Amino acid sequence: MKIPMVDLKTNYLNIKKEIDYAINSVLNKTDYILGEEVCKFENDFAKYCDTKYAVSVANGTDALRIALISAGISKGDEVITTPFTFIATTEAIVQSGGIPVFSDIDSETYNINPDEIEKKITKKTKAILPVHLYGHPCNMKKITAIAKKYNLQIIEDCAQSFSSEYKLNNKWKRTGSLGDVGCFSFYPAKNLGCYGDGGMITTNNKTIYENAKMLRDHGQYDKYYYKENGFNSRLDTIQAAILSVKLKYIDEWTNKRNKIAEKYNKILENIADVPIVQENCRHSYNYYSICLKNKLEKEKVQQNLLKNGIACQIYYPQSLHLQEVYKYLGYKKGDLPVSENIQDQVLSLPMYPELNDGQIKIISDRIKEKI
Ligand SMILES: *Cc1c(COP(=O)(O)O)cnc(C)c1O
Repeated sequence: MKIPMVDLKTNYLNIKKEIDYAINSVLNKTDYILGEEVCKFENDFAKYCDTKYAVSVANGTDALRIALISAGISKGDEVITTPFTFIATTEAIVQSGGIPVFSDIDSETYNINPDEIEKKITKKTKAILPVHLYGHPCNMKKITAIAKKYNLQIIEDCAQSFSSEYKLNNKWKRTGSLGDVGCFSFYPAKNLGCYGDGGMITTNNKTIYENAKMLRDHGQYDKYYYKENGFNSRLDTIQAAILSVKLKYIDEWTNKRNKIAEKYNKILENIADVPIVQENCRHSYNYYSICLKNKLEKEKVQQNLLKNGIACQIYYPQSLHLQEVYKYLGYKKGDLPVSENIQDQVLSLPMYPELNDGQIKIISDRIKEKI
């Protein structure tokens, strides 16, 4: 029996009636671009994240790029971020004209280590871009304090953390409402995924909101009047209609992911490092990632899973500061040792709300065989 990383088919079949109805209603209205479902979904999304505004865009990478430009990042500005993330994070920084500055990660959560950030601040630093990796929130208490001290903006990469929560100043808040602007992806494998590409920007800042809304639609501020060079980056009405249906289920699905993580933890905690959930954090487990003793052990486990038809992935096998594309930034091996170690040891296992006990047992048995 094959076990995938995510089971999109079962997920669809469970809500097929509602989804088909939502798609059909758009087909009947034919308002494919910025139709009323887009506006409705943006409102519902802002309400869920408890932000004043939400602007939908074509994908998560554009959410980051448009958020950075809307927040005023431009040529030569330095943006401090993690080397242990998907390339889109830094791709967006470069596309805005900015320079990614890599700061090492925390060995417990694999998120940017706030204690390393200050060393990286220069006169050119304009923003910090924390990524809530796998769905575990970054240490926003410390990051917020640093941002305040040096007058920097915070742009959150929430592509893997929709529905995650963090307690700041004694109040539980959702990721995407903790910094100046939040960026989300609706890539199918994310916690809230559409049936294609999609993304969202959240903010409480009116200027950022207005800039983002203009930039996603060619820089247009009034029909056929343009203030800036923008992009064609809108969320399709059909995708918004699908996402509106799925949004109603997100809390149920996140709870299921947490239950599955607890079951995995119980079986695996004695043989590997299982994900920890730090104080003041609620995890949403976009990915469930374990950390093995070393590269050799990880490879043995990985091969055994794949041989038995069980999917697994390494997020991410090469830290970004060592990628060819960023050679010009001048980093070398050994510069960010925690990230360089972790990249060899992590392994992400199948994780989706529909994963059942039998499957969890099969996956765990295959891991145990090699440890
Ligand atoms: C998925 C992802 C993105 C990009 O999202 P797309 O919708 O695929 O463009 C950005 N950052 C992180 C951390 C991601 O996981």
